[in-house]
Amino acid sequence: MRYAQSVVDLVGGTPLVKLNSLAAGLKPLILAKIEYVNPGGSVKDRIALKMITEAEKSGELRPGGTIVEPTSGNTGVGLALVAQQRGYHCIFVCPDKVSEDKRNVLRAYGAEVVVCPTAVAPEDPDSYYSVSDRLVRETPGAWKPNQYANPANPASHYESTGPEIWADTDGKVTHFVAGVGTGGTISGTGRYLKDMSGGAVRVIGADPEGSVYSGGTGRPYLVEGVGEDFWPSAYDPTVTDEIVAVSDAESFAVTRRLAREEGLLVGGSCGMAVAAALRVAQHLTEDDVVVVLLPDGGRGYLSKIFNDEWMASYGFLTQDGHTTVGDVLR
Ligand code: PMP
Repeated sequence: MRYAQSVVDLVGGTPLVKLNSLAAGLKPLILAKIEYVNPGGSVKDRIALKMITEAEKSGELRPGGTIVEPTSGNTGVGLALVAQQRGYHCIFVCPDKVSEDKRNVLRAYGAEVVVCPTAVAPEDPDSYYSVSDRLVRETPGAWKPNQYANPANPASHYESTGPEIWADTDGKVTHFVAGVGTGGTISGTGRYLKDMSGGAVRVIGADPEGSVYSGGTGRPYLVEGVGEDFWPSAYDPTVTDEIVAVSDAESFAVTRRLAREEGLLVGGSCGMAVAAALRVAQHLTEDDVVVVLLPDGGRGYLSKIFNDEWMASYGFLTQDGHTTVGDVLR
């Protein structure tokens, strides 16, 4: 019989799939790493497992303890499913702009969700930051993973994502492309691939136009989970060789093409990363192997990226229903 001992054992070990339609006319092999097959539906299961395991080892998280983190998305799901299997309670703090659906996903896994007003300053006692700090102080046995500064975040990718890519490409990978949010994925995976290849693998970060990684000031953009308005310590800028800035329009156009042409229903940061990979691939040869990481699935974005009215309201669709960027990628 072949089975996992618990859902936690199913984290990682995700497959690579060749991009065909989107890579037409380009010389290198372009492979997408599909993170939505993780049990919590995203790449964040990896960091959740490692952050919790390290905190158990260091004694910061004790039996029956409570995990408190300001998160509304994928990291919360990953933490909730590992916590539940190991007997911890979770409290997630999220701003009220986060959809009811997303909050209900966290509750479905047994987490408690505390909602804070979006329209207050960070120092306001009701803000997302103030409330999560207060909950940590006031809850006995509380521990805050803090994915932005926790070294276990990049370490999880150094120990799992990187080795998987190296093994599955027989060490032939030449370029690695990933979106940058906390920076954990690109820093840990990129560092491993560089270590294994003697520095030969080129590491490319994809960033929403406006975010600090590509020289922006933190101006707003719509793609979720990537880009920042500050530099987190989980990000190691010495690993990244190049940053490619991608517009929302292009990210969403490519996201829709991934669903329609490759059968990959994925999130907007996946379209952003693939847009960057296609741009990089234009200058490469048949000998190159580009791996691009797709962090999550598209179900959470049906009312946005995959909704024509929403797309049109931001000017991302033309009158006849086509995305406005068309063939800009080639
Ligand atoms: N895409 C999505 C949807 C995410 O939730 C995240 C994590 N914030 C990322 C990309 C970026 O990954 P990382 O935090 O490892 O840079």
